[in-house]
Amino acid sequence: MKKLFEVKNLNMHYRITDGILGNTKGYIYALNNVSIDIYKNEIMGLVGESGSGKSTFGNCILNLIMPTSGEILFNGKNILTFKRKQLKDFRKKARLIFQNPYMSLDPRMKIYNILEEPFIIHGIKDKKLIKEKIYEIISLTGLNNDDIYRYPHEFSGGQRQRIAIARAIILNPEFIVADEPVSALDVSIQAQIVNLLIDLKKHLNLTMLFISHDLSIVKYISDRIAVMYLGEIVETAKKEDFFNNYKHPYTQALLSAVPVISEKKNKSRTVISGEIPSVQNPPEGCKFHKRCPFAFERCKKEHPELKEITPEHKVRCFL
Ligand code: SF4
Repeated sequence: MKKLFEVKNLNMHYRITDGILGNTKGYIYALNNVSIDIYKNEIMGLVGESGSGKSTFGNCILNLIMPTSGEILFNGKNILTFKRKQLKDFRKKARLIFQNPYMSLDPRMKIYNILEEPFIIHGIKDKKLIKEKIYEIISLTGLNNDDIYRYPHEFSGGQRQRIAIARAIILNPEFIVADEPVSALDVSIQAQIVNLLIDLKKHLNLTMLFISHDLSIVKYISDRIAVMYLGEIVETAKKEDFFNNYKHPYTQALLSAVPVISEKKNKSRTVISGEIPSVQNPPEGCKFHKRCPFAFERCKKEHPELKEITPEHKVRCFL
């Protein structure tokens, strides 16, 4: 399989300063040495609790925020060194679907203008081509032709998310980050939007990073899954392997919280206690040791590496 993204040792540490003098008070360690590949035409599901660094990762690989260090190769080129022209081109190829369709659409613009805007930003002026493309995408995303003359407030949440998806794919991108794209929607609508994303991925040969805290949705949509905890990848595997042979205690705990999802026979429940520790003050050793029911002495002192245990299955745990 060809790699679309190769992310190497990505760190995002936000500096905290005191108000007046701007002295450094500390850091927020949002991402820590994240290394992961995303293959062409796959949907990579990224799961973890709120505050684990999932969205920061999504924003970094779209070059919307500049990480502290690391490399992000897109088709072999480091996007962090892109100059203006290359960056503009990259922004056409890699797009974001936001979580909240109520906030992401300008209420003063008609749908036609919302969908026309990306063309204008990228200097495409052919009105006939733009109109044809808008009608094509409207139909692909399950909206009606007449909808383009209406305003966002005239639509339901699910329809608004269809419009937001239409805007994200209108310039024929190669890659989409879908950041919790259904979490603001009614449960009854969520499946429709997830199915739409799966159809679009097939139809348009898209590669996707699907960020979610909901493992049942991630299981449905993803080809591979990565679990993030306190800014680190703790487990990654192909979907079948992930749900049949998950290894990391944190993955076990996430799956235990959704009892029907695991395909592992006779699994025992793993319960974790407490809140996710502060990203400002992450624990020494294994970052999960304060909540891990299997922690032992070594876990408090040494930091485990992400190790391959079978091809394509990596785990960060001494056990
Ligand atoms: Fe738990 Fe230790 Fe494994 Fe960390 S390294 S997940 S604390 S057993």
